[in-house]
Amino acid sequence: MTNCVFCKIIAKEIPAQIVHEDEFCIGFNDIHPKAPVHLLLVPKKHIPTLSDIDDHEEQLVGHMIKIAKEIAHKEKCEGYRLVFNVNEKGGQEVFHLHMHLMGWK
Ligand code: 5GP
Ligand code: ZN
Repeated sequence: MTNCVFCKIIAKEIPAQIVHEDEFCIGFNDIHPKAPVHLLLVPKKHIPTLSDIDDHEEQLVGHMIKIAKEIAHKEKCEGYRLVFNVNEKGGQEVFHLHMHLMGWK
């Protein structure tokens, strides 16, 4: 999607501190961290919100959670939180699906 900031990060058109990349998703540090570890797990496919996930894409969300768990362990987080903000009323600002990983050491 042309005007989507996360699509531009995936396409390497704008910089980000990328900590993970595979066939399905990318993980990069949030530009305004709200925890000692704060990164975003983002599917490479442009899907606006969690509500737009089709049944056959459920495994994509499972994959994102698995990667988040691995990064949290690698970063030696003692505790962490995984958050999807959904729609404006749910606090979503960027309409490309993403999961926040916030971790504390
Ligand atoms: P939301 O409120 O949509 O769940 O979260 C969007 C997140 O994306 C925010 O925490 C915000 O700091 C982060 N963000 C927005 N624009 C950029 C950007 O250009 N680069 C990075 N790394 N993070 C961004
Ligand atoms: Zn996008």
